[in-house]
Parts: sequence; C-alpha cells; structure tokens
Amino acid sequence: MSEPLLKVEGLKKYFPIKGGLLGKVSETVRAVDGVSFSVNEGETLGIVGESGCGKSTTGRMAMRLIEPTAGKVFFEGKDILNLSKSEMRRTRKDIQMIFQDPFASLNPRQTVGRIIEEPMIVHHMGNSSERRKRVDELLELVGLSAYYAKRYPHQFSGGQRQRIGIARALAVRPKLIIADEPVSALDVSVQSQVLNLLQDLQKRFNLTYIFIAHDLSVVRHISNRVAVMYLGKIVEISDSERLYDHPEHPYTKALLSAVPIPDPDNKTNRIILKGDVPSPAHPPAGCPFHDRCPVAMDICAKEVPVLKKTEDGRLVSCHLYD
Ligand code: SF4
Repeated sequence: MSEPLLKVEGLKKYFPIKGGLLGKVSETVRAVDGVSFSVNEGETLGIVGESGCGKSTTGRMAMRLIEPTAGKVFFEGKDILNLSKSEMRRTRKDIQMIFQDPFASLNPRQTVGRIIEEPMIVHHMGNSSERRKRVDELLELVGLSAYYAKRYPHQFSGGQRQRIGIARALAVRPKLIIADEPVSALDVSVQSQVLNLLQDLQKRFNLTYIFIAHDLSVVRHISNRVAVMYLGKIVEISDSERLYDHPEHPYTKALLSAVPIPDPDNKTNRIILKGDVPSPAHPPAGCPFHDRCPVAMDICAKEVPVLKKTEDGRLVSCHLYD
C-alpha cells in the first residue's frame, strides 16, 4: 500500500498554566495526549468528540499552526516538524484550513476577491490578472458568481461566507484540507449544501480531508474513517460504516445514541453519561473515561487502556477488548 499523505505519531500538546505571585507553572493542561493516525490520499478522516477533547488542537498541530509538545507529523513522508521556516511555508501551500466561523476568519475590510487572492500572493502564484481570473473561477466553483468579488463579507449569508472560505482554501491548489467544524455555525439545510459542495470538490480535485466535528451525524456521510476523541486521546478509529453500525468503545456508543434516527421503529435507547468531561488539567487515572463509563470495571481506574486492533480491524482503546 502506498504511503499515507499525512501521518501523525504520538502527538501531544501540553499547555502550562502559570499561577501564584512568582508565575510558576502550577498545572499542565493535557489538551492532546499521544494521538496517532494517518490519512490516505483522496480519503476523508472525520475527527469527532465533545468540546475540549483536543480535536481542533490536533488539526492545528497536523499543519503546524501549533507546535506540538511531542510527537511527529509526516506529510508526504517528510517530517514537517523539522522543516525550516521557508520549507514549511512551501509545504503549507499543500495544507489549507477551513475554519468554523466563516465571518471571523474573513477580513471584514477586504473585498471577497482580495480575500481569495491573498494566499496566491503569499505563495507567489501568477501575476495580478492571472490571480483575478482564478478568483473568478474559484467563486464559480463554489457556487457563487464572479460578480461577488467586489463585495465585502458582511454582504453574504453564513453559508455563502463558508463558500468564500472554501474558495480561499482552494486558491493555492492544496492536497490536504483540514476543516475545523466547517458547518457547525450553519443552519441544518445549509449544512448539507456545504457538505455536498465539499464532497464534489473532493472528487473533482482528489482532495484529502480531515473533517473535525463535535457531531457524529455531520461527519457520517463525508468520512471514510472516523476517529473518536475523548480527553485528548483517540478512543476508537474505524471505517465509517462499521463505526456507525457497530460502535465498540462505550464512549462512541454513548455519542451515537445521542444522534437522532429518523426511523420510528428504531428504538435505540439514548445512553446518558453521568457527570461532565473531566478537566484536561486533572485527567482521571487509568482509562480517562472510567468515571463516566456505564460498563467500567475495577481495572479501568488503574490501568490506561491502549489503542489496539480488534478482530474486525478497527482500533479501540478499552479493557473490554483486551
Ligand atoms: Fe469503560 Fe473501562 Fe473501556 Fe474505559 S476501559 S471505556 S472505563 S470499559
């Protein structure tokens, strides 16, 4: 099998919290705590988990917008954490990001044409008339009119602004797009339009996506594989179909049970988890999920389960499958 486009190994991000009069490090937030996965060319990997589970930090570390505390990131086989600034700038052209809040990620004082053109200027692509032509093409590509290039972000709806964000990400012809909650701020009807657009663009340009979301139902149709995160760790990675039909990890089961099913005969009971997600500054000993897990055993409070391959080929970190 060919090499994955992106591979991350043992990625960690610890944020020190300083306190007291002397400003000493009083505690450490383990936002991401040893995450490994790979993404193949043309594939979509969904990363799902509740707010604060480390999914966005993982996405940002994968393109080195945040420097990891430990771990490795390989893009096309290159260890990008060891690249010089200029090498990293060149590599960043191949990895683009789409953000959750299209309004916050677009400069309100710039015209849409200028916003989309900017990454091409940064990466020295084409002359000014070539870039303007490409802006028009990109606007058409994402379902907007070239005429909109002269308008400002506030003149667009949320869905249209996200289309502008997508056009901007596509401007430099990236290979990998990391989409961080790209439809969470949109109405449900607009969500599916944007998801369909992302799928069409993927087929057309053989794009690879990492699609980050807090809602399993959103990533279901777009992802080939899904990684579920809890408290800075991946607890299950599986191909999408198997994960949705037969979730293995108790946390995945609980998340899935909260997804509404449009079938009155389906009587799946919702699993209500007790308590809140613990603070990543004080993760529980043993399995990070043990104090909320409905099927926790004695060993769960003592030993950290490792992510292991199960019989059907998925990866699960849970003592139930040891
Ligand atoms: Fe639940 Fe134990 Fe599995 Fe953790 S290791 S998910 S506590 S059964």
